[in-house]
Amino acid sequence: MKKKYIVCIDLGGNTTKLALMNLNGKILCKDHFLTMSKLGSDRYLKTLEDHIDLLLVSNKIKKKELIGIGMGSPGPIDINKGIMLYSANFPGWKNVNFKLFLENKYEVPAFFENDVNMVGLGEYYLNLQGKYRHIIILTLGTGLGGTYIENGKILHGRNGFAGEFGHIQIVEKGIPCGCGSNGCLEAYISASGIKKRLQKLKANKKTNTEFILRLDDLTPKSVYKLAEEGNGYAISFFRDTGYYLGIGLKTIINIFNPDLILIGGGMFRSLKYILPSTKKYIKENAFFVMVKDLEIKKINFSEKLAFYGAFLLVKNGI
Ligand SMILES: [Zn+2]
Repeated sequence: MKKKYIVCIDLGGNTTKLALMNLNGKILCKDHFLTMSKLGSDRYLKTLEDHIDLLLVSNKIKKKELIGIGMGSPGPIDINKGIMLYSANFPGWKNVNFKLFLENKYEVPAFFENDVNMVGLGEYYLNLQGKYRHIIILTLGTGLGGTYIENGKILHGRNGFAGEFGHIQIVEKGIPCGCGSNGCLEAYISASGIKKRLQKLKANKKTNTEFILRLDDLTPKSVYKLAEEGNGYAISFFRDTGYYLGIGLKTIINIFNPDLILIGGGMFRSLKYILPSTKKYIKENAFFVMVKDLEIKKINFSEKLAFYGAFLLVKNGI
């Protein structure tokens, strides 16, 4: 029986997305389910198996017709062994061996990548190849993920953890970060960082009381809503956020000398208020020879990018 299908999996904090693709990279069928990380990793693996089986059965495909499985997961993940070591958003999940589980169940090779790298890989081969060669991608959502792609190759570092740009320190003795350190970029500009900054403002009755009271909750979405109404405090809060991002990006630019920086993720809509001050800071503070011709753009990540990244993992791996 000819092997001609690839299963692509994108494990997210809230939702897991799956796709069945053919060898030309065409999506034949999609599915998704709630990750429900609180129920534990054993339960998750069982649900994942059920959904892969459903994908195969509903398309009348036999296990033997699969060529491989590609999967992206939040880090830190040992990409060679396919093990999620732990993750802040998955309490209790420790050393989850996805590779062993999937290879035993489906008798095909399974390949793993950090979720941001997987999206970056998809974006590079679908949209950037031939136009840019040194690319930084940042995903601004609950946390701040990053990847560096040079000529189509992802920088992995020794353990596959390279690109943790969210943990560049931008303030000494600053806001505590989930990584155990403090003052990290992620602790200021990600959704969880923004919540911490808003909590600080709320605790200080003298500052921006009116602004805090008008927020529905302490999320970027609520700040965005007020900014859209023209609220000056909300707009200035995002301007500060952009300034913090600029401090972090200055370091990233000076180290990597990229020709393109793409920023997207769950906070995509707020970037229109954030990025102007980021660009201004970079122009004034990063090494000027690196800023010349550097492009900084917003990107609205589509689920197709992650699936295509998973497809490439398999195609390049077998
Ligand atoms: Zn950190």
